[in-house]
Amino acid sequence: MAGAQGQLDGKVVLVTGGARGLGAAAARAVVAGGGRVVVTDVLVDEGAALAKELTGEYGEAAARFCKHDVTSERSWEAAVAFAVREFGRLDGLVNNAGISSGELLAEADVARFREIVEVNLIGVFIGMKTVVPVLRDAGGGSIVNISSAAGLTGMVRTAGYGASKWGVRGLSKIGAVELAEAGVRVNSVHPGMTYTDMTAHVGIEVGAGKYPGAPMGRVGVPHEIASAVAFLLSDAAAYVTGAELAVDGGWTAGLVPQRPGVR
Ligand code: NAD
Repeated sequence: MAGAQGQLDGKVVLVTGGARGLGAAAARAVVAGGGRVVVTDVLVDEGAALAKELTGEYGEAAARFCKHDVTSERSWEAAVAFAVREFGRLDGLVNNAGISSGELLAEADVARFREIVEVNLIGVFIGMKTVVPVLRDAGGGSIVNISSAAGLTGMVRTAGYGASKWGVRGLSKIGAVELAEAGVRVNSVHPGMTYTDMTAHVGIEVGAGKYPGAPMGRVGVPHEIASAVAFLLSDAAAYVTGAELAVDGGWTAGLVPQRPGVR
């Protein structure tokens, strides 16, 4: 289980795209760590169900759901105001909402490229901009931006997606530098191939030896990414800002040696 007990005591965290996948795992880690979470998403039924599940398990004050489209400034203002109204403060933001694509650069559709950048990069930018005054009021805070292994290296078939995730990595560094004086830390997390709705269709399987492309030989599972997110949200990471944390089973560390008998 991600989110060590007491790790996030008293902290209020907003998680975008929190209805399912890595966002839902991050939301679970926040409440398991003693914090309170505002789950936001365009998926209303799934998001509301998760908030209900979390309040059932951790108490009425543990979680709320707010409908939120990260591409809209107005929707961001409403989501952040909702968090402050419900919980009185905000200490953390996990910019997790994202969409993906799999076209080759030369074949990628321009409108789809724009759409991906709009959600994955501009959504993160608006979010950071919107929460800064509120985090400042709280005396500081932590922003965790979910980039990707595709934001650390050039991966085939990730034109819009990879570009947006490299952008998120860069924006995180800029935020780290500009917001340190306000006590706001900004870091990026770079998941490798992890089993969620986003990736299930590419035919990956969970389990040892099922993903030879990564040195550890397997795909990740959502709570393994959420542990890294919870750490960066917590005071254990008080001196960590501008860092890029790969959580990818070694995928971006280097090439997997081709050894006889090893697939
Ligand atoms: P997912 O598709 O399961 O979940 C993404 C969530 O984002 C969904 O609930 C979706 O409704 C929400 N969302 C999409 N557009 C939105 C919008 N405009 N406003 C608000 N919410 C919106 O995907 P996931 O695998 O859980 O991915 C979560 C994040 O992790 C993404 O940013 C993704 O790029 C990143 N990531 C995932 C992997 C992986 O292997 N799964 C690897 C690297 C990075």
